[in-house]
Amino acid sequence: MLTVKDLHKSYQAGKVTYEVLKGVSLQVEKGEFVAVMGPSGSGKTTLLNCISCYIPADSGTITLEDMELAYLGEDALAKVRNEQLGFVFQDFLLLDGLTVGENILLPAIIGGKITSQTEKRAEQLCDVFGIGHIRDKYPAEISGGEKQRTAVARALINHPLLILADEPTGNLDSKSSRAVIRSFEQAKDTLGATIFMVTHDSFAASFCDRVIILRDGVVWKTLERGRADRTVFQDRLLDAIREMGKE
Ligand code: ADP
Ligand code: MG
Repeated sequence: MLTVKDLHKSYQAGKVTYEVLKGVSLQVEKGEFVAVMGPSGSGKTTLLNCISCYIPADSGTITLEDMELAYLGEDALAKVRNEQLGFVFQDFLLLDGLTVGENILLPAIIGGKITSQTEKRAEQLCDVFGIGHIRDKYPAEISGGEKQRTAVARALINHPLLILADEPTGNLDSKSSRAVIRSFEQAKDTLGATIFMVTHDSFAASFCDRVIILRDGVVWKTLERGRADRTVFQDRLLDAIREMGKE
């Protein structure tokens, strides 16, 4: 469903060019929960921002279903971002002046299509993620974990093809992290969502079906969880990261 082929991206700092992505290729299947790991500065956020077309790649292709994103014009791209992609960020990015319920509806409001079905969808998402009781509260009145579950619900309101998450547990304690990861699992299991999550947290990554490890601007290794226990998979991830450090 998502195919990234030979993606290159460099940044210019004065006269120096830093090549961050040096030919990244990967694939995400429908219904998969995939993590991208890698050391700080390895280009995880850059990769995510290229996939969401917030920054243009230098070369390579990004294909979502059968749409090649680089060829879309501004309007078509805005539509893809609003309707086909859902975003979750480290710092939640909720609007302070809107309630939890209103924040969740925001992408639908922006898309200009609030119907009774949208309202029902919002209610269903609140139920699934256990935030129904705080629907009328404002972001300042709820916990970090509740904010992030609100953000996950917001990301799902328009039935997107793909959820893109950048360090979604980065600002949360372990209990809240667990609740947010649980909400991704529920999105996958109950709603058939596909999730692509960037994280440096092996605990968060250990819940995924597959973990892609970036190093030196390319995919260094991909680990499949298979039927392994979460803790066993986390140990494998930690081993891989240790091995990467030694090489
Ligand atoms: P990660 O998310 O894995 O920590 P990033 O993708 O944020 O890594 O950054 C990768 C590298 O690119 C870092 O060295 C960072 O300093 C650099 N970088 C990121 N964004 C920019 C930018 N807008 N201009 C210049 N350099 C950048
Ligand atoms: Mg980052």
